Amino acid sequence: MICVLCQGPLQPHLKKAGADKKMYSVMRCAKCSVWQIDPLPSEGELAALYQSEYFKVRSDRGYADYASEKIYRSVVATLEKNLRDLHFPAWENSLGENKSLLEVGCAAGHAVAWFAQRGWHALGMDIAHEMIEAGKKAGRPLVEADFLQHDFGAARFDLITHWATLEHLPQAEAFLRRMRTLLAEGGKIYLSTCNTGYFARRYGTAWRYLNVPEHVFYFNRKSLRMLAEKCGLKLVRAFSYGSGFTTRENASWWYRAQKHVADRLARFFLTGDMIVIELQHL
Ligand SMILES: [Zn+2]
Repeated sequence: MICVLCQGPLQPHLKKAGADKKMYSVMRCAKCSVWQIDPLPSEGELAALYQSEYFKVRSDRGYADYASEKIYRSVVATLEKNLRDLHFPAWENSLGENKSLLEVGCAAGHAVAWFAQRGWHALGMDIAHEMIEAGKKAGRPLVEADFLQHDFGAARFDLITHWATLEHLPQAEAFLRRMRTLLAEGGKIYLSTCNTGYFARRYGTAWRYLNVPEHVFYFNRKSLRMLAEKCGLKLVRAFSYGSGFTTRENASWWYRAQKHVADRLARFFLTGDMIVIELQHL
């Protein structure tokens, strides 16, 4: 077997049963170090996964009531932290009045709403019907469409964001290539995904982001850089956060204390299990 991203040799790494009770192999590429699941799910299987239940029912995967106000506040808190680490405020100040944002995989459009409030011409896109409907009801500039098929006309964007989505996409490479063609001169792509660093190795099959088959690719800084360069993009900046401790409701003070310390250590040592990167034209 060869890596679908770099054509390097794949080696067996882990095995895990999926939400669909099928057994999946997680293979690791010896060349670019990406992990990918085998077999890759078909488009039909993935579409079935993302029926609305995925976003409504609380489980280790999926998101509880994703369109709620409470989730808005938590999405925005993470967004603002990430933007500070990406040195976004200074760059934003350097842009004129007419600045445009496209969010690919926007769900209910919480982050899109945040940008729109700051004066950005913002557009969010997703294929999740109920999410888009919920966001539109809240007056958000969203469109239900397949990013790879949608006709953008002559539109180009100063910023394209893609938060915690790339790991879901069997066509990850096609998504990055299309984002590049939609980037304005001097534009940036901000992208986050889970990071196969220390915590992924330590927790093995119990790693919180090892969700098969909905997460099909598992990246790190190296595999992201190689994939970006293949798509005509350069990796300008990367940082990580997250220590493997999931945010839990009604957690004990001891759990919260451990999470607090571990989050800070992960950040300091760049070993977080989420990675955030900035890409620009190569
Ligand atoms: Zn590879």
